[in-house]
Amino acid sequence: MPRRPPHSLKAPVAPIRWAESFIELIFPERCLFCRAVLPPGAGRALCSSCGRLFSPVGFICPACENLASGDSSCRCLTDLPFLKSLFALAFYEDQWRLLLHNLKYGGRRSLARPLGRWLGFEIMQGQPCRPDLVVPVPLHRRREKERGFNQSRLIADHAARVMGKPALPLLAKNRDTLSQTTLSRRERLENVSGAFSALPGSLEGASVLLIDDVYSTGSTLKEGARVLHARGAVVSGAVIAYNPSAVK
Ligand SMILES: [Zn+2]
Ligand SMILES: [Zn+2]
Repeated sequence: MPRRPPHSLKAPVAPIRWAESFIELIFPERCLFCRAVLPPGAGRALCSSCGRLFSPVGFICPACENLASGDSSCRCLTDLPFLKSLFALAFYEDQWRLLLHNLKYGGRRSLARPLGRWLGFEIMQGQPCRPDLVVPVPLHRRREKERGFNQSRLIADHAARVMGKPALPLLAKNRDTLSQTTLSRRERLENVSGAFSALPGSLEGASVLLIDDVYSTGSTLKEGARVLHARGAVVSGAVIAYNPSAVK
């Protein structure tokens, strides 16, 4: 019997196709690296020349954080019960670092569209993850107010639209944690522990794709996944960029 998400999760998917086509006509999709105009509806936001120099990172084992070959499984055979798989589009380096920096701190929110669409496109190519819904990692409301947006929410919205799934902000951040960038792996875990809560309601049996912009130690994504898992969801993660060397 096909698994169905709980009734409360039947939020409308938001593909208003004519509006999307109209936007594409005025602001055609461009290559993220060289700005060449791309054909309408391109899944990957790189032109053919730049695309030849880049292949997506793919699946990373959430337990040992090594690259998993081909699909989401890893030979280490350890398992994080609350985070089943993790997909990353790119390594957090070079142009990718710049793109995400421009999005988050340079106010270039228009970058969320090609990044999110591309992420959604790649997820749909892979076998291991067929989510019922997409959930963004939240920012604390004070941080979101300062920035004017939550980049993970924007990325998740665009990814979900490509996937034809609802994007629901089911997680909330209860306290404004310290910036993770200056902390050790252990401090990061402690910093986000208990920082998230899920909106009321059961997620029993729902397959959830939790989206964030960057994965470094994974403490944020794993804490979000743990909270959704506690509500009964089967959680996979997806990020734009993986930063394996950030913190040891
Ligand atoms: Zn290009
Ligand atoms: Zn592993």
